[in-house]
Amino acid sequence: MAKNLSCGCCGCGFMTWKGYVDQDQDKGFGICRKCQDWHEELNNEQLDKIGATLREALNNANTVKWDGLDLETRRLLAMEAVSEGMVTWSFGGRQ
Ligand SMILES: [Zn+2]
Repeated sequence: MAKNLSCGCCGCGFMTWKGYVDQDQDKGFGICRKCQDWHEELNNEQLDKIGATLREALNNANTVKWDGLDLETRRLLAMEAVSEGMVTWSFGGRQ
């Protein structure tokens, strides 16, 4: 059932949609679609940058393998590299 929530990011009121995943927000709050898309875009941008850094560190054979992977897989690997502590990053770019 659709819920009427306030966006914890931009403050707008919005109705949840089919497939909306509850966000880690206070009761009555969530993240609107526009902000979710924005976050995802930022996130992917960062992951693609990390992917490019990882690729630079690979030997020739692995670079060929990397180039054969689809974007989704590269982003997953980049995310894994971050959670393994091989790469550190933060929102808002480098510090
Ligand atoms: Zn929002």
